[in-house]
This record gives sequence, C-alpha cells and structure tokens, in this order.
Amino acid sequence: MTTYPAQLLINGELVTGSASPLDVLDPATGGVLTRVNQASDDQVDAAVAAARNAFTGWAATPPKDRAAALLALADAIDADGKEYASLESDNAGKPYGAALADEIPAVSDTFRFFAGACRTLTGAVAGEYLAGHTSFIRRDPVGVVASIAPWNYPLMMAAWKLAPALAAGNTVVLKPSEQTPLSTLHLAKKLQTLLPPGVANIVSGLGSTVGSRLIHHPDVRMVSVTGSISTGQHVLEAAKASIKRTHLELGGKAPVIVFDDADLEAVVEGIKVFGYYNAGQDCTAACRVYAQQGIYDRLVAALADAVGSIRMGTQRAEGTEMGPLVSAAQRDRVAGFVERARALKHVEVVAGGHMGEGNGFFYQPTLIAGATQDDEIVRREVFGPVVSVTRFTTEEDAVTWANDSDYGLASSVWTNHAGRAMRVSAQLQYGATWVNTHFMLVSEMPHGGFKQSGYGKDLSSAALEDYSVVRHVMIKH
Ligand code: NAD
Repeated sequence: MTTYPAQLLINGELVTGSASPLDVLDPATGGVLTRVNQASDDQVDAAVAAARNAFTGWAATPPKDRAAALLALADAIDADGKEYASLESDNAGKPYGAALADEIPAVSDTFRFFAGACRTLTGAVAGEYLAGHTSFIRRDPVGVVASIAPWNYPLMMAAWKLAPALAAGNTVVLKPSEQTPLSTLHLAKKLQTLLPPGVANIVSGLGSTVGSRLIHHPDVRMVSVTGSISTGQHVLEAAKASIKRTHLELGGKAPVIVFDDADLEAVVEGIKVFGYYNAGQDCTAACRVYAQQGIYDRLVAALADAVGSIRMGTQRAEGTEMGPLVSAAQRDRVAGFVERARALKHVEVVAGGHMGEGNGFFYQPTLIAGATQDDEIVRREVFGPVVSVTRFTTEEDAVTWANDSDYGLASSVWTNHAGRAMRVSAQLQYGATWVNTHFMLVSEMPHGGFKQSGYGKDLSSAALEDYSVVRHVMIKH
C-alpha cells in the first residue's frame, strides 16, 4: 500500500498539522487516498515568523548561491520524477504518462530558468542626474510572500510560485490546494534539505482557514494566488489593511478564432489536444471556438469525430488520454453548464454531454455546436472538458466577440494569411495569443492576463520583476 506524504514544512521541520484532518481523494474512484491534517492558526503564524526570520539571510545570499539551491532542487525533482508524477496522477486524476512526460520536465525547468535568471537581475545603469550626486537603481526582494496554489497543476503551480520568489531573494509560505496537496508535501521534504530553515514553508488546509489567515497576516508583504476570481477578490480585500503587494492569476475563457483559410486538420488536432488536456481544467484551455462561415460545418463535423475519439479512463489504464475531473462538485458544475446549454433550441451537443459511470468524477469530452455570443456556455468559465463552437462571418465580428469577455488570459488565431494573423493578434485583449497553435508555454516567456483574469506574470524575467521592488539609491559626492 502506498504511503502518501502528510507533513507540513515549518521553519525547516517536517511537522504534522495540528488542526482537523481533510480527506484527499482519488478522483477516478472517489475513494480516500489519505488524510492530511491542516495547519492550525499557530502553525500558520509560526511559518510566517520563520519566513520573516529567514528573510535577511536569504536576501543577502549571493544570487550564485540561491541559484545553486534551485538547481539542486531541479535535479532532485528530475531524479524523483516518477514519484512526483505518481502523486500528481493519483491525486489530481491526470493520466500518469502525461504527468511524467509533460509536467515534471516543465516543473524542473522552471527552477532551472529562475536559477539562471536571478544571476542576471540588475537595476538600470547608474548616472548623475543632479550635480554632485550619483543615482542608481537596485532591485531587491519584497519580504515574506504568501503563495496560494490551485488544484489543476499542483506541482507546476508550486514551482511557478516558489522559483521566482526564492530566486529574487524572498522567503515563502506556500499553501497548496486542500484537494491536491500531495506532490507539494513530497516536495517539502526536498525543500527541507536543500534550503536554509524558514526560507520555504509549506502549510496545508482550507482556503477559508489556512489561506485566509495567511492573506490577512500583517507580516506577509506580498500575496500571490492562482485561483478563481472570487478568491482573487478575497485577496484584494485582505491586502488593503497592510497594503500588501498582490499577484493574481485568475480564470480564463480562451477564444480560438478559426478563419476559412485555416488548415482544418491542424485546427481539429489542436482543439482536440488543447481543449481537453487535463480534462479541460486549465485556465488557458481552447474552449471558446469562433469558426468562420465557410469552415464552420466541416470543422464541427471533424471535431465531433475527434472529440468522440478521446479515450477517457483511469490514470494508468492503457491508452487513457483524459482522466476524471478533480471532484464531484466540479463534475456536477460542468454537467450543469452542459444541461443549461442543451436546453437552448439553437444549441446542439454533438459529442459527449454525459457523466461517466461509476463513483469516479468522470465527465465525457463534450462539444457544443451552434452556441451564440450571449450564451452562458460562451461567457462563463466551465473549467472542464467542454468546448463550444460559434459561427461568425466577418473578421471584425470575430475580434469583437473574442474581446467581449470578462477574461483576458489566453487566445489563439488560426489562419494561413500572415497579415491577418498579425492584425488580429494585435487587436486581441489577452495576455497571450498563439497563431496556429494554442497553450504552448516556455519558461522564458511570461504567462498572465489582464481584466478579471488578474495581473502579475508567472515565468520569464517579468516574474522576477514582480517578486522584487525597484529602489533608488543616491550618493552625494
Ligand atoms: P480556488 O480559488 O477555489 O482555490 C485556489 C486556492 O485558493 C486554493 O488553494 C484555495 O484553498 C485558496 N483559497 C480559496 N479561498 C480562499 C480565501 N478566502 N483566502 C485564501 N485562500 C483561499 O480555485 P481552484 O478551484 O483551486 O482553481 C480553479 C480556478 O483557478 C479557476 O478559476 C482557474 O481558471 C484558476 N486558475 C488560473 C490560472 C492562471 O494562471 N490564471 C491557473 C490555474 C487555475
């Protein structure tokens, strides 16, 4: 029988949470994998105090040495990749092979990128802007950062939060999602051995208790959260008391604009992969398709076949392409969206549209055709394996509808016309726009949105800037 990690990391010690336990489930069966005790208020306070005490030392640690610790962490993650992939797969329902091949290398690369990047972080060139004085700019760490992660990519989100914050010289208290804490708790054991006590702390528990105490803590100087819009609003409310810096990565509803001249086969393959990866529980998922009049019917027919062919199954079953959703609540929420869409006369569910059998939290890969701009299925984030297709005629309509959204995280344009690709991508109000692909991330490029998708960048040197402050030092000659 597998023994799952259950200890928190506070001030360099692995400790058992002293508040009530929470069940951690296998989404494919609904069964309990293990129970993890939550951090008590005192433990959250102790984690923040440890981070505060460790801050001066870590901030003064030369970038070369901070980089060495992050590189060692990256090597340790690669060396133990199968275990991390297992935990991620068991707990978040991901197909094991995809977790191992796609996610673990991206996690270790995040630590490697920031290990290198922190050695190049400089202020602007110094100069004399007032006679007899030399000014220069420094970039310095912010202080204690509280980082709060979601359930969809538990280890990757932990990496996106820990790596830039630590690289920039901050100390961190990280809370994984109460639904998927296991891979982060496993990482805690490595953080304990590779970092000085207090530099990185891991506390687990509910958002309403552990998360809330963290975001209200007066000694926390910055809160970084990836989650829903309502959690982002809680963070902003909490931040006002002590004017904390905030970094918000909230939801998305990515438009996918397909013009008549697009390569149909590439579009179908792209939406099949990028709309249903991680069972669509992805804030950049290719979920809101706008197809031009001349390609619409062929696209819907080909997509219905492709989506119908996606193999849904348990994490380690041979050939599984898509696993279950994370929880019964999430599955029921997705089913609600599909049922309300199905009730509309102009809408047709052309693939999927039903829950899976058994006790697991499965929902079939689903394609909804004929949706219109005002439909809920086009406007609200489903966060599940459901893609809608809407017909458009003119380029202007496509751009207007794509931008007519509360969200502003990710988008894509599919066309073989280079000028149109340039023109349309320039007009889209999204943090990322891909042309003839979707969803591709690299550590060197920023990820993050605007509008209600939040602000603040993950990945790239832009994240290092977000996790540091600009300071002016002036010397009188
Ligand atoms: P969620 O907001 O419910 O939870 C996210 C985290 O916030 C969890 O750790 C939770 O415990 C914590 N939390 C909840 N309420 C809190 C509170 N009052 N105070 C402090 N912490 C609190 O989101 P989720 O359901 O885990 O994730 C799904 C959402 O995250 C979706 O909307 C998705 O689009 C978004 N998301 C965004 C990105 C991005 O990069 N923009 C990436 C992944 C997920």
